[in-house]
Amino acid sequence: MFRTAWTFAHIRGVPLRLHVSLLFILPLIAMGVAFEAAPRLLARLGIPLDALVLPPLAMGLILAVALFVAVLLHELAHALVALRQGARVRAITLMVLGGVTEIDHDDATPGQALWMAFAGPLVNLVLAAVSLLAARLPLGVDLHAFCLLFGFINLFLAIFNLIPAFPLDGGRMLKAALRFKLPEESATRLAVGLGRGLSLLGLIFGLVRGDLFLAIVALFLFTGAGAELSQVQVRTALDGLAARQAMVTRVVTVGPARPATSVARHMLFHDAQAAIVRDHTRTYGVLLPEDLLDEDAEAGDLVDGEPLWAHVDDALGPVVREMRWTRKPVIVRDDCNIPVGVVTLPEISRAARLRRLADRALQPGGRPVESEETGA
Ligand SMILES: [Zn+2]
Repeated sequence: MFRTAWTFAHIRGVPLRLHVSLLFILPLIAMGVAFEAAPRLLARLGIPLDALVLPPLAMGLILAVALFVAVLLHELAHALVALRQGARVRAITLMVLGGVTEIDHDDATPGQALWMAFAGPLVNLVLAAVSLLAARLPLGVDLHAFCLLFGFINLFLAIFNLIPAFPLDGGRMLKAALRFKLPEESATRLAVGLGRGLSLLGLIFGLVRGDLFLAIVALFLFTGAGAELSQVQVRTALDGLAARQAMVTRVVTVGPARPATSVARHMLFHDAQAAIVRDHTRTYGVLLPEDLLDEDAEAGDLVDGEPLWAHVDDALGPVVREMRWTRKPVIVRDDCNIPVGVVTLPEISRAARLRRLADRALQPGGRPVESEETGA
């Protein structure tokens, strides 16, 4: 399969990865700096472009790389603060629209979330201050131009990320600040609402001014905000539910040496939604229909690592969190350790939807709860 990201280093156990989209954006940024930003800045400083020792394109390339170093340091700050707070960090990936740090810290306190979000822009503010101060030293023209441009790049990164619009750091900070006073869902709804309003303004402004880049970024922010809200809504809805309420129960058992096509036939014959791979010595994992695409593979090769287990009565929230982090379905066992079902993502959405509909009847203004049917 075509790989989309390469790991180039590890820091405190966190893989640092480069996404393939960087290969396309780096030359574009280099050219933008070489033919637009650098000449404009130098003109403003009264320095002719040919005073540079380096060719403009080389200066552009150095600054494009420096931009991604600044983004990497920004993401590293988020990751290191998260690790210090006891969170799990999967990876930092540098890509076309900046960096992404995958952090599992759903239980962060408002204070922790605020600090974790602010750490990134803070790094850029410090880099900007250091570079702009260094630019005041008696340096050669090239170094002087580099320090100024690098300083402005970091100032831009800090200010842009502090805009209070999800999923930017400013939006996360706003949500964390609101959480001091409000429950998480209300805080998210408010922060996301403001973020959406701002990105809509950005989109309109971008379209009116013919600034396509601004319009694309605004659109990206608008859709990103919705994702955060629905994630928090699902998490809130799962509160109080158990694993048995979000599992498929039509499950078959297959041996690890069984080919994928045979597993598919077996599942179809028994009208099953999932297949647990096990033999008499151990359980290997779970296969869902979408895992069976490689028809030559055997069932045991299609599951990766150790399977996740939960008891039927385990709280669903932590089960789902573990599932999202490991990207694996969870096998649910009963009191006798017998597998009785599998928690899957569609079942989680179904349970969350049911819970929200059920809760509507309990809210003021909602329809009164009708008498419950009770089984004999
Ligand atoms: Zn950030």
